[in-house]
Amino acid sequence: MKICPGCKRLHRDTYTDCTECGKPLRGIERDNEETYLVTAEGFEREHIRAALEDEGIPCVPRFRNDMYSSDEVTGKGTSLAEINVPFSAYPKAYDTCVMIGSIDPQTPLTFDMEEAEKICREIGEKNKDKIREDMSPSKRTTYKVLGAVIFLLLVAAVVLGTDFITAWIKGLLGG
Ligand SMILES: [Zn+2]
Repeated sequence: MKICPGCKRLHRDTYTDCTECGKPLRGIERDNEETYLVTAEGFEREHIRAALEDEGIPCVPRFRNDMYSSDEVTGKGTSLAEINVPFSAYPKAYDTCVMIGSIDPQTPLTFDMEEAEKICREIGEKNKDKIREDMSPSKRTTYKVLGAVIFLLLVAAVVLGTDFITAWIKGLLGG
């Protein structure tokens, strides 16, 4: 899997130069490497941004100088922008765009989606391990003890609360 350092488009390893801008391709260096997702304009762009946000995927719209329309210059914000997402979220972001109709799944890709999915799954597993390591045994014990204390407090609150209410009702009835 390769990426274009210029326009951030993914490519198969068999490519040496970007099919979009001609820059020499390189390997993916970081899990959150900015990756080109889709080109969109105006409302569509906002629609995609909202859909990605709903999925918890951060996105960056990049306006390309050669894409500026007169409207964008006058501040109406309707020019084309390329929407980029972190590489590790790419397959999910792609699926989201297909679901809302912003990407046609029939459009041929310059890379292998299955390979991208595999790499992203591995990134996900790696991060899960990291979270597990962060949750060290001593920390886990602390959480268990805290949980037990909170449970006992809740039980006490219920028991004492019932006693208090019973006494109050008895008082009301003049007992
Ligand atoms: Zn490129």
